[in-house]
Amino acid sequence: MPANNSKTQGLYPKTIVYLCAMFFKPLTRAVLLSCTILFLAGACPAFAQSPGKTEDSTGAFRFKTIVIDPGHGGKDPGAHGAYSNEKAVALSIGKKLRDALNDQLPNINVIMTRSTDKFIELHNRAEIANENKANLFISIHCNSTPQRVGTRRGAMLLLYGFHRKQEQLEALRENASIYQEKDYQKKYNGYGEDAAMNAIVLAAFQQRYRKQSVQFGELLNTEFTETDGRPSVGVKEQGVLVLQQSGMPGLLIETGFINNPDDERYLNSDEGQNQIVQSIIRAIKKYKAGFNS
Ligand SMILES: [Zn+2]
Repeated sequence: MPANNSKTQGLYPKTIVYLCAMFFKPLTRAVLLSCTILFLAGACPAFAQSPGKTEDSTGAFRFKTIVIDPGHGGKDPGAHGAYSNEKAVALSIGKKLRDALNDQLPNINVIMTRSTDKFIELHNRAEIANENKANLFISIHCNSTPQRVGTRRGAMLLLYGFHRKQEQLEALRENASIYQEKDYQKKYNGYGEDAAMNAIVLAAFQQRYRKQSVQFGELLNTEFTETDGRPSVGVKEQGVLVLQQSGMPGLLIETGFINNPDDERYLNSDEGQNQIVQSIIRAIKKYKAGFNS
């Protein structure tokens, strides 16, 4: 069974959590939760395979599918600049990345979660990646600050990590897309409610892919800073829902601050978008080479 089978990864933890919540008192629940995490983390063969790798007929692992996820879309514009919005910039960079990957790495299967101005729920984006057994999930976004015109510039790379106070600003902003969805509390296990236990079990999956996500993030950060000479906050761990629900290494790329005039110009220019795309491709090539060595 592939490690990233969406049905297996999506249903088991939720079912277990609901059963725990319904039938057991808090202390018993805590013990059961610990056992569940230990079970999922190592004892179950379905989850014990190498993450994010696909086995071919010779038994060798091949890196063959990348999912590109342009953030937001449709009724969810994302962050705003003076004259552009995040959903359009993310889609434009996503399509350029798809075309460049098809051109430069033709053996890799590239799948988009959206290629038009369409609203797609976060869990569906993760499902697309899970169902296609993707080896890497790349979500493309723009950063922003609370000010109308911001002074901060540059990139930031988010990977899924356990929630940490004071590092949650970007995750909260990116997760806010779910408030555009119906029944979001049901779909995201009561996100925003008292659902810490559910979150912990789901997070146990993404933690399996942490090492590869960090590797890819650091390779990309080097490209952004050293090759392109752009500022970057670097790789951060935050509770990003779209990454939490995807069963493979993944990164949410904040490509720049859309409410900063210089970054907004860069993010909307062909030159800036192509530079970002080529940096992502160089990082993918280096990351992929690490798999084959
Ligand atoms: Zn975003």
